[in-house]
Amino acid sequence: MADLSKLDIMYVPGIGPKRAEMIKKELEVYTAEQLLNYFPYKHVDRSRIYYIHEIDGNMPFIQIKGKIVSFAEQGEGRSKRLTANFTDGTGFIELVWFQKINYIRTAYKLNTEYLIFGRPSLFANSISVVHPEIDVYNPELLSMQGLQPYYNTTEKMKRSYLNSRFIQNAVAALLQLYQEPLRETLPSWLIREEKMMSKDEAVRSMHFPPNPDQLRKAEYRIKYEELFYIQLQIVRYSFNRQRTVKGFLFPVIGEVFNRFYANNLPFPLTEAQKRVLREIRVDVISGKQMNRLLQGDVGSGKTLVALMSMLMAVDNGFQGCIMAPTEILASQHLETISQFIYGLGIKVELLTGSIRSSKREKLLKELREGDIHILIGTHALIEDPVVFHNLGLVVIDEQHRFGVEQRSKLWLKNNCPPHILVMTATPIPRTLAMTLYGDLDVSIIDELPPGRKPILTLHHYDNQRASLYASVRKQIQSGRQVYIVYPLIKENEKMDYKNLEEGYEHIKEVFPEFTVCMVHGKMKNAEKEAAMQEFVSGKANIMVATTVIEVGVNVPNASVMIVESAERFGLAQLHQLRGRVGRGADQSFCILLTSFKLSETTRQRIDLMTRTNDGFEIAEADLRLRGPGDLEGTQQSGIAFDLKVASLTRDSELLEYVRNKAIAIIEQDPDLTFIQNEILAWQLKRLSRDKIEWGFIS
Ligand code: ADP
Ligand code: MG
Repeated sequence: MADLSKLDIMYVPGIGPKRAEMIKKELEVYTAEQLLNYFPYKHVDRSRIYYIHEIDGNMPFIQIKGKIVSFAEQGEGRSKRLTANFTDGTGFIELVWFQKINYIRTAYKLNTEYLIFGRPSLFANSISVVHPEIDVYNPELLSMQGLQPYYNTTEKMKRSYLNSRFIQNAVAALLQLYQEPLRETLPSWLIREEKMMSKDEAVRSMHFPPNPDQLRKAEYRIKYEELFYIQLQIVRYSFNRQRTVKGFLFPVIGEVFNRFYANNLPFPLTEAQKRVLREIRVDVISGKQMNRLLQGDVGSGKTLVALMSMLMAVDNGFQGCIMAPTEILASQHLETISQFIYGLGIKVELLTGSIRSSKREKLLKELREGDIHILIGTHALIEDPVVFHNLGLVVIDEQHRFGVEQRSKLWLKNNCPPHILVMTATPIPRTLAMTLYGDLDVSIIDELPPGRKPILTLHHYDNQRASLYASVRKQIQSGRQVYIVYPLIKENEKMDYKNLEEGYEHIKEVFPEFTVCMVHGKMKNAEKEAAMQEFVSGKANIMVATTVIEVGVNVPNASVMIVESAERFGLAQLHQLRGRVGRGADQSFCILLTSFKLSETTRQRIDLMTRTNDGFEIAEADLRLRGPGDLEGTQQSGIAFDLKVASLTRDSELLEYVRNKAIAIIEQDPDLTFIQNEILAWQLKRLSRDKIEWGFIS
């Protein structure tokens, strides 16, 4: 059997070395096998011929059989165009070209029967088709054409006539040449069990489906395979890690935990908090290393869960640590946790970059000797001189700010890796979590503590500022604080800083009686922390800022979040910003300011924000509107997954289904040595050769 994965595309009939070079560069398609896996993005039904009198302006594509009656050239220089009057006897349409005019003039003849194909547009009662495809009419060809594939190519390729039609012909020639079945990539038992197409039939039908039903079946088979192998890799990886990596045992629920529960806990835990704690408890008595992602909306009470997990560690003679992304957050954690554990005889310390060396030395010594039970800190925690006596549990707050590499450094602090609890308030849609964090177990706090008033989100246009300021004034007069956030993106940095500065000056003018502070990323760390502190302490009434405040700052007294140019923020970001308010007992507001002109997707984003406070719903919508490529986690996860046909949003049910399939297989045959699974092992090896990095978490 010819190995198409080793066959250079230059040997595909019709391609040759020069074109091959361009295709490799532009599409990253190098081998005949990759060409066969370069699937069309759509098919158009070309079995039907329309009459001109049937056409209206709403048809995406039309195919007409007729003749060119006359040509005409109009315009000069760059605006020159060629038009042709085309008729099928039921009416006339105009064909239009802006390029290759001389070529078209000589290539197409008057009064010859052509089949033209293109997108019709209706203007002033006349129908025109710009740059139509034209073939000499041939009834045999027509019946063969059926669903015609359309392939993406680049502008550069199109200029060299390497267009969709070219790819179509190359694929057709290749499939014609290799009549023998293409190599199967799923075990035959699985194909039978799932009643799926063979690989050969699926690939051929993806390009040239005999009918829409076959196309759907082919797509299913290809999607299935894409998602299945991603999950098989993840499941096997995590299964193996669980087998080989041991975890510390915390068998005791001891004095500290129990006393905390009985005496210190100021309110009952929510059901969700209890459930997550039980999930953690199961992990830490399993003998395996816990790797758990704790997702919970802002204000859902993750810190408390983290603390109680650390108390489990302490009861069993281990130390715990919690790592926060900023110094402010770390000191807020210290404050909250110190209050919570008052009187329990537990030593909690803070270690950040700004702690002076004399204090630092003492701290490090106590840590080494095990006198400190819980250490709270920033990145400073993973620096080399920080040595723990016996670190049993690491909590990482606001996970997405920590790179994979930083996380893995913590592993090295012990011979046996500590249990890991990663907390995030950026909800990751379930389907994405299953892919990105497929080897992390996921816990979800889906319930806010009782008595919270839901944040009211309102959409205002820029020109409604005056009335908005009146409400802001009232809020501040009754003792509340207000955030005003400006967008800041690299591409537009200069302009954005100008807007921020102007906004700051403007606010100071509008509210001369109040204290206004400003925070942005260009400030020195100390300056920034000082300004933040001014707001945290309540001295400043209004904070004008960029998104630096997105992460976890807790000012329960702040009740209004105003987002300037809200149309420029993504959904996840807006939700994070909104989470900065609504932390106290008062009714809180989030005001989204936008201009009048909004695109359709922007309007959808803003509407969704005003309609729901549910972070998961927002995350799902975010994934749908933007696709997974932009999601923050993706770049940092280190995973490259390349989905050609499947989609994490649309195919979430299938994803879940194949994950369970993968789990069932790995449970029976963890090393994939059974003869009937041979093809799985072979395919996994091939995929891992394609540089997919799965060992991202440890
Ligand atoms: P986040 O999940 O955003 O980190 P926090 O842990 O900061 O949330 O909790 C937000 C606030 O809710 C804190 O003031 C915390 O003390 C309080 N809280 C946590 N759990 C409960 C509960 N079960 N009942 C009432 N208040 C709670
Ligand atoms: Mg928090």
